[in-house]
Amino acid sequence: TAATFEDIRSRESQVDAFLKLTEDQALVHATEIDASGIDVGNVLSGIPIAIKDNIVTKNVETTASSKILTGWIPPYDATVIEKLKSAGAILVGKTNMDEFAMGGSGENSSVKPTKNAWDLTKVPGGSSSGSASSVASGEVRLSLGSDTGGSIRQPASFSGIVGVKPTYGRVSRFGLIAFGSSFDQIGPFAPTVRESAQVLTAISGFDKKDATTTDATVPDFTSKIGQSINGMKIGIAKEHMGPGVDPEVKSQILAAASILEQQGAIIEEVSLPHSEYGVAVYYIVASSEASSNLQRFDGIRFGYRAEGATSLDDIYVKSRSEGFGEEVKRRIMLGTYSLSAGYYDAYFKKAGQVRTLIIEDFNKVFSDHDLILGPTAPTPAYKLGALNHDPITMYQGDMLTIPVNLAGLPAISVPAGFVNEMPIGMQLIGKRNDEETIYQVAAAFE
Ligand code: GLN
Repeated sequence: TAATFEDIRSRESQVDAFLKLTEDQALVHATEIDASGIDVGNVLSGIPIAIKDNIVTKNVETTASSKILTGWIPPYDATVIEKLKSAGAILVGKTNMDEFAMGGSGENSSVKPTKNAWDLTKVPGGSSSGSASSVASGEVRLSLGSDTGGSIRQPASFSGIVGVKPTYGRVSRFGLIAFGSSFDQIGPFAPTVRESAQVLTAISGFDKKDATTTDATVPDFTSKIGQSINGMKIGIAKEHMGPGVDPEVKSQILAAASILEQQGAIIEEVSLPHSEYGVAVYYIVASSEASSNLQRFDGIRFGYRAEGATSLDDIYVKSRSEGFGEEVKRRIMLGTYSLSAGYYDAYFKKAGQVRTLIIEDFNKVFSDHDLILGPTAPTPAYKLGALNHDPITMYQGDMLTIPVNLAGLPAISVPAGFVNEMPIGMQLIGKRNDEETIYQVAAAFE
């Protein structure tokens, strides 16, 4: 643990991955584990891990990188934190992110932008920017992020590491600051497929504090790693290899697919015809859910309160105006608009119907395929500042990851090569609750 803090100290001024380090508590915890003896049956015993700052941590300030939560010290731990602590993992700090997980570059943090560990002039991806860069730079081996539309997989792709969005309901959202509640999932970042599977095994499972968790049994997600993939049927969706995707990214992905083919996998073209509507559906539904979830930040209950308010309404208006950043306000306005009585049928309801078509597309492909393979993101990481004032282009960057959240499916991003000397990721999408097969095939490729 002490060595991890040395690594963090030597790299942090370059990557800016952390909002807060919890060195004192971490060293105490590590000493306790030393005293009681490392639990050899438990792979995470004594292992340092970094946590995205939208996951609440008892007695450690949690802000989701928003000014409106500055100074909020949660009195409880998220379920994933309780699970990690009881597995003996050591929390080393809270990582930077796009405010309330809204963004794809890390630049929407109210505090600072995190840098890509491969090229400090480029974005690390987002919204789990700090969790990705802390692992990619070698500050820590493991971290947790959250993924609502791609926020684990896309930064994993941009940063050359492994990122997993589990099946919706696999991991408890209790203590995850809610963005889009019907999409949000917590998942791991790691340098290798096996370590990712180990962390996911530790944090998964039914939780009575989150009614959307499934009671499906949690296997050891490493159990199929090393098994042959001979005969496995893998689809490549033609819509994932369309004109919006960088041709060099496509050729790396086809090269990756042929490595799996050499091991006996059967690769076939498939179609997800409604996936082109994914981004539009997501920005209506996720923003609607966000506008509702963010109502609780009123200047009274948590964190920041504006000075000089003259009435209760004024406290709300001033605190929210000053406390939320531009992108968060944009989403709140979009969400309240699409939920409002006059527009509900045209937007929110319609988006829900198209979401069902997207889910049915996946069901059809999975009726005779084990996995879907494709790029995680249409491009490698771009320069800091390049898309700052172009939210629509930024939103399009999630076109390959968003449909997976709409359908609640599990997916991994695993490093699959380089384009212009920057890493790119291959996405493998699996059937509901079949993370084991994803890890098996990802490890065969790795
Ligand atoms: N980039 C997407 C957004 O801005 C996804 C974010 C996420 O997965 N949290 O909403």
